[in-house]
Amino acid sequence: MAHRVTFIPGDGVGPELSEATRRVLQATGVEFDWDVQEAGADVIERFGTPLPEPVLDSIRANKVAIKGPLTTPIGTGFRSVNVALRKELDLFACLRPCKLYQGVRSRYQQVDLVIVRENHEDLYAGIEFEQGSDDAKRVIAFLNEIQPKRVRDDSGISIKPISITGTRRIARFAFEYARAYGRRKVTAVTKANIMKHTDGLFYAVSREVAKQYPDVEYEEYLVDNMCMQLVQKPENFDVLLLPNLYGDIVSDLAAGLVGGLGVAPGANLGDDVAVFEATHGSAPKYKGQNKVNPMAMMFSGMLMLRHLGERDAAARLEDAMGTVIAEGRSVTYDMKPHRDDPTAVGTSQVADGVIAALEAARDTKGGVV
Ligand code: NAD
Repeated sequence: MAHRVTFIPGDGVGPELSEATRRVLQATGVEFDWDVQEAGADVIERFGTPLPEPVLDSIRANKVAIKGPLTTPIGTGFRSVNVALRKELDLFACLRPCKLYQGVRSRYQQVDLVIVRENHEDLYAGIEFEQGSDDAKRVIAFLNEIQPKRVRDDSGISIKPISITGTRRIARFAFEYARAYGRRKVTAVTKANIMKHTDGLFYAVSREVAKQYPDVEYEEYLVDNMCMQLVQKPENFDVLLLPNLYGDIVSDLAAGLVGGLGVAPGANLGDDVAVFEATHGSAPKYKGQNKVNPMAMMFSGMLMLRHLGERDAAARLEDAMGTVIAEGRSVTYDMKPHRDDPTAVGTSQVADGVIAALEAARDTKGGVV
């Protein structure tokens, strides 16, 4: 039976990337029943919001979505449309696999990391008090009353909540993922030597959860050391488990190890809803130019295939993309040694190349899809 999936083309370069991705997903032979939903900057005039309710309803009903990037226009009341979507659907886990494919320009030989980032809590919870505001003054007065370290009157304040509940479910997610995908180790990453009651709690709860998974190794690293270790020896790590802020920063670092934004896929997952999307944004200056790299979104589509239980199709798509990357012909400018390389192809030609590689592999295996 066809998989019913919410399909959000997005805005900026989103529609071009989404179309290229849809074509390669269909070329795997897996059947989809796409529920196309519009969101983003281009629908504000029609709906009065970049995130119309029917989009959320569709994802809630279908449980699985793949989306192109969405711009957050200034003055729409959203700090970020993408963060709002994750909050509305309670997508508490951000998954960012960072794998190095042969042929990608990188300083490394072997990288195969999976970043698991908590999506709702921490300094990104959005609890902030503007410097000079009445609320900031009240918070500062309260803080100065209840503890001895003086907070300056002219401070802005951001709050960092980390809970047992939030940590327990992201830690369980990391260990369940490790088990499901045959990963050997989970490394929790914080700055618990300084922030004992938030990052320290993250460690304590992760340690408790780790005891329920004796088949998966567990270790802890401080985030500053982890950044250095990743640059020096990324092959030493497997699944990294991080609170929101460190997760955001370390996942970009890890994306840099494996070739950058053009090939960095992602997924945001909740208890029963999953939204697959590239790490990068809508790159508005390239809109409509058939120029940017669709591989990050295609790899996100590959993660979606795995999530849907289509592991064989996911493996075939990964192999086909690996072939295209290794050959280096049907790739966009960002994967060439020089950005102005005249042999770079456009977005839709990458899809053509991947589809040709899928078909070639199928033909050599005797026509079995
Ligand atoms: P961006 O990721 O859109 O682009 C930054 C630069 O990265 C681009 O100028 C381009 O040089 C490069 N780049 C990005 N995607 C690429 C690709 N597929 N192939 C080749 N090069 C690529 O980041 P930004 O300019 O900071 O953000 C633009 C908009 O996107 C903002 O409104 C932001 O809020 C939004 N955004 C959305 C998402 C999302 O939908 N999940 C994520 C990040 C940013």
